Amino acid sequence: MEDLISISKVVVKLLLRLANAEEKIEIKMKGSMDLDIFKVVSEGSCWYGQLNSLNIIKYMIIDQSVGSEDYYSFLLTKDDLFLPTKNKVNRVGGLARADSAAIVNVGNSSINSDHMRIVVLIYHELGHMFGVPRSGRPEDSLDLSSGVHCNNVCVMRKDDKMINEIVGMDLFCPACLEELRDYFKK
Ligand SMILES: [Zn+2]
Ligand SMILES: [Zn+2]
Repeated sequence: MEDLISISKVVVKLLLRLANAEEKIEIKMKGSMDLDIFKVVSEGSCWYGQLNSLNIIKYMIIDQSVGSEDYYSFLLTKDDLFLPTKNKVNRVGGLARADSAAIVNVGNSSINSDHMRIVVLIYHELGHMFGVPRSGRPEDSLDLSSGVHCNNVCVMRKDDKMINEIVGMDLFCPACLEELRDYFKK
């Protein structure tokens, strides 16, 4: 986990640099959080040990409302995450709520085996946390099938297919990068 924590710290720094927002946000390590209460015994197609990502995000947002400090929360976990939706339960790599919090499943493997997937996932969820992509963009450049995603070759695409396409390319497409920079101008 130590490796993953340092790598995610680097990713956060690089993203803030891309967004021209390095001076606007200070990165602090808050420590660990016991997620056992978010594990399900059985719910639909979930199995024991999976974490309800939506409840974790809600918890992090409630935690932010206590006290006067203004911050974003970013959490890494090795456990599987699921997202309950109206009709079914989806296994997800991560989840984020704009302007507040994000969580990423870094898996049980060490960073070496699957590091590109995890790095892309961290960029992706941080992007959502900073409001990218915005829903106001022309509809054909968006994928609205689950949440709001980008249709370009971009880390903000919905699926894992992006990972192979992205290696060696810019992470955010020009539209998403512009939105990311705009986000920090406010
Ligand atoms: Zn997403
Ligand atoms: Zn994009």
